[in-house]
Amino acid sequence: MDFQDGILQGVAFRRAKWSGGPIVPEIVILHDTASRLTPGAAARDLADNDRKVSAHFVIERSGALTQLVPIHQAAYHAGQSSYHGREKCNEYSIGVEIVNPGRMTRFSVCEAQAWYGERFDIDELGIQEVTTPEHGHGLWMPYTESQLNTLLDLLPALFRAMPSLKDITAHWYVSPGRKTDTNPLFPLEQVRSHVFGREDPVDKAVKIASQPAHADDLVMIHAPEDSLNLRRWPSFNPNVIGQIPDGAVVPVLREGVFDGRHWLRVLYGGREGWIVARYADPLTEQENLS
Ligand SMILES: [Zn+2]
Repeated sequence: MDFQDGILQGVAFRRAKWSGGPIVPEIVILHDTASRLTPGAAARDLADNDRKVSAHFVIERSGALTQLVPIHQAAYHAGQSSYHGREKCNEYSIGVEIVNPGRMTRFSVCEAQAWYGERFDIDELGIQEVTTPEHGHGLWMPYTESQLNTLLDLLPALFRAMPSLKDITAHWYVSPGRKTDTNPLFPLEQVRSHVFGREDPVDKAVKIASQPAHADDLVMIHAPEDSLNLRRWPSFNPNVIGQIPDGAVVPVLREGVFDGRHWLRVLYGGREGWIVARYADPLTEQENLS
């Protein structure tokens, strides 16, 4: 991902009606659109509305990215806000909007309802009922893996293009009590450690709870579909980082039991990640030699 004149090359650009003067961005503020999930709807609204709101980027549920404002120009996404005592965050931040319905309420046993009336199947979308001191109570929709993957591409590109950037935060952090986005299911700490290269607190806990595998252990993947998900953490949260094709043979680096399920940390395509152990068959020594 490369920028030219503050505009990301190779992705959709749609100039927002509302943008401000030049800025030297120091922080990235992450948001939820609190909108319908219809592809393009949130980007259209943030590009053209009469409420004087805009943002630099919008990430669709599919992971598709649209830029609305060049990154050296202010966008109107944070409103009344303060970061470590400094007000008016729009004057020194990049705003990234992630498409999500925002806080929902329970409509029935199996349905959650967004503020604008749309209803979603709780099981199908993995919606969770969570209360935090910052967000209060609500039903919340998880972000998609594609959204998180796009974000994890975009953020390092932004930090490379803008050496003035120092931190990644969320709207609830800079507008406490007034805003709740991003929602409680957003893995902010993991995203920050990924971009800043610190050891992830989750990674550390996983390392302590798992054991190194025997040297030279190889397994053959037998995927339920054509391929098996390679995951960043041994869990089914949105964290898929790759696919291993059925029949591939991969080395095992670590193993452990998490949430009652046996997981293996393997290396595939130069990437380390976790797979569910029951989709991997140990190779016998004979096969190992051949
Ligand atoms: Zn927001």
